[in-house]
Amino acid sequence: MSAPRTDLARRTERPDRVQLVLVGAGHAHVQVLRRFMMRPEPDIQITLVVDRPEAVYSGMVPGLVAGEYEVRELEIDGIPLARRAQARCILAAAVDVDPVARRIHVEGRPAVSYDVASLDVGSTIRGLDRPGVYEHALPTRPIRTFVDQLSLRLPSRDSGAESPPLIAVVGAGAAGMELAFTLRARLLAAGVDPKITVLCKGQEVMPRYTTRVAAVIRREAERRGIEIRTRAEVVAVEKDAVVLADDRVPCDLAVWTTGAAPVPLFENTALPLDAAGFVRVEPTLQVVGYEDLFAVGDCASIDGYPWIPKAGVYAVREGPVLHDNLRARCKGRPLRAYRPQRDFLALLALGEGQAIGAKWGMSLAGSGMWRLKDFIDRRFMTRFQVLTDAGDDAPDFPSPEEMGMDPDEMVCGGCAAKVGASPLEHALARLPARPADPSVLVGLDRPDDAAVVELPRGDIVLSTIDAFRAFTDDPWLVGRVAAVNAASDVLAKGGRPRHALALVNVPEEDPRRTEETLYQVLAGVRVALDALGISLIGGHTTSGEDLYVGLVITGESEKGAILGVDGLRPGHRLVLTKPLGSGVVLAADMQGRARGAWVNAAFESLVRANDAAARIAREHAASACTDVSGFGFAGHLGEMLRASRMAAVVHLERVPALPGALSLFARGMQSTYHEQNREARRGLAIPDALERHPATELLFDPQTSGGLLFGVTPEREDAVLAALREAGDVHSAVVGEVCEPRGDGALFEVAP
Ligand SMILES: Cc1cc2nc3c(=O)[nH]c(=O)nc-3n(C[C@H](O)[C@H](O)[C@H](O)COP(=O)(O)OP(=O)(O)OC[C@H]3O[C@@H](n4cnc5c(N)ncnc54)[C@H](O)[C@@H]3O)c2cc1C
Repeated sequence: MSAPRTDLARRTERPDRVQLVLVGAGHAHVQVLRRFMMRPEPDIQITLVVDRPEAVYSGMVPGLVAGEYEVRELEIDGIPLARRAQARCILAAAVDVDPVARRIHVEGRPAVSYDVASLDVGSTIRGLDRPGVYEHALPTRPIRTFVDQLSLRLPSRDSGAESPPLIAVVGAGAAGMELAFTLRARLLAAGVDPKITVLCKGQEVMPRYTTRVAAVIRREAERRGIEIRTRAEVVAVEKDAVVLADDRVPCDLAVWTTGAAPVPLFENTALPLDAAGFVRVEPTLQVVGYEDLFAVGDCASIDGYPWIPKAGVYAVREGPVLHDNLRARCKGRPLRAYRPQRDFLALLALGEGQAIGAKWGMSLAGSGMWRLKDFIDRRFMTRFQVLTDAGDDAPDFPSPEEMGMDPDEMVCGGCAAKVGASPLEHALARLPARPADPSVLVGLDRPDDAAVVELPRGDIVLSTIDAFRAFTDDPWLVGRVAAVNAASDVLAKGGRPRHALALVNVPEEDPRRTEETLYQVLAGVRVALDALGISLIGGHTTSGEDLYVGLVITGESEKGAILGVDGLRPGHRLVLTKPLGSGVVLAADMQGRARGAWVNAAFESLVRANDAAARIAREHAASACTDVSGFGFAGHLGEMLRASRMAAVVHLERVPALPGALSLFARGMQSTYHEQNREARRGLAIPDALERHPATELLFDPQTSGGLLFGVTPEREDAVLAALREAGDVHSAVVGEVCEPRGDGALFEVAP
């Protein structure tokens, strides 16, 4: 496998690449990603658009219900898998597909263009519009939602009810029957003996199976006291019952498993649909009439094969054909047809370590069948689980090093990619002195986040410039974060940012891609600026090696209202408004070593603007303020303490960390620029026990678009925190306090 030369931003911007967009991380797409990881295609740029990082492997859901598995065992984290396949990730839901303009419309951001695209977005459930179903029942699709809701909705022994809990399973297909068996097993193991009734609209359970298999299932149900009611169509669900046309069946929980329905993505689509609303595809898995668009799994209906059930096993089997055909289509080569198998070994979980195997109309039940199912499913999962729950490399998945990637060659972007503080100071010191300019209130002789000048009529203008190399491969996100980050400097000074100029360096690529990259960057910039009331009034564009985005922001203020970095006084509390750790999480993401949930949390933090925090800092008479960025918490706090001629104590346990950051430090990961920031260590008092402790390392982690750090008097502490949390800065914390300069000269002491 070829090694990425430097960072994601660079390697994904090859001019001649075919843009392949995968929507959804369903059973087929994870196989496509893995196959591209094993055999990379330099000419194809893959983008994964997915509404949430973790997808669920359906084959293990019944085992989860039975209590045999933990949720994490059946989750496939699409983000590290995509990163290992060198794919871009967009963590947002697709809301429409335009097959003519070849665009995937994505929630809350500009559409993504494609040359070739594929949809594997699963299904939802039929009948959700029946009265009360949405409000009271537990629907089994989308399967992810079901998994999330399950343990919250199950009756427990502590509920205090005297009679056994009544559970109605609505739908008697394979999923419904498996649920009846496995729910019972789960509840029995928890000391609850439920009364389960399966309600079946037709005459027989499991209509897609032979009558022999159905009879075995009935017998197993009878042995377990599970009641099956046929010709019992549920027309509504109430809080404590399901309603039939001529009866009412009391229940404490109604599980709704009435068969697949198309996802909302296809509600107003121009795509060809079958009678039930699923996307029609050819046997090659190409959408009928659109050769560059593919659809697979539950969301698709293959012409000529109306009998294919909406089952994960088909989505799995379509995976290899889809991969071959996507690669072939991108390369202009002929495609092959998918030939679905009518009969395969169906393994249905019964709970209590038992399963039924059914094939060719025959069936066999017992613990041997369960062991076989468990073995097959676990083996399948090892192919896609890149990281363990704790974030370590999964033992059965090739590490980046084994794949030939050299993590040391991946250079971080974002605010981390800043020239260190001392080279800058030294370079500035070598410049000739400039004549004094009385209009400059804050300038190079008194470095701060923004320069402040006073115009002849007394107006106060703040100016700042902030720019960075892309920290990820999504130009929209890079633009948005660059704007949030640049505005922070003016906000931290108590100013109102008003106008912006953008500087964008776009990687050299063909003109069509250049326009698209530029559009995505500027659309991201605008989203952030518009929300802050800042007008984008101009800019400059260049082309070069990397994607690089910067903004000049000017703002206004009143003369006495500027918040410097030099006002800290003994006893002042130090307030930090965003968690630290973006540097290490982004570094790990580049290598496919960050869990999707961590990456998602980091991105959410990066796009959060500091306007509310700045307002609260002003309202509570903050004594000094800065925004935490590339030099890390230690560097920026050090700057404030030096300017204020003060020292401080920082309590590690109070410093908020992004999910995953501490465990990444614990396994030796860090941003490329971490060691540079670590030079600040020399000015700190750190007890031996905390030296190189993950929480200590967090203080040196370079932040991209970090939060504000400001001082307030102790009386304001509680009110400030309450206001920040109410405004949405939920991770805000008082992380330390200011004290008189220390005898040993240390800038601050790190306490546990
Ligand atoms: C209770 C139950 C048990 C089941 N047990 C089995 C079983 O044992 N064996 C079996 O073969 N089948 C089983 N099934 C059926 C199985 O769940 C589905 O057939 C299977 O999950 C479909 O796979 P898929 O790849 O089409 O989509 P999914 O696996 O559902 O994946 C869809 C992907 O698309 C993403 N997505 C959805 N909407 C969007 C959007 N708008 N934008 C971006 N991304 C989006 C999702 O997050 C997910 O990543 C069961 C179903 C249920 C309800």
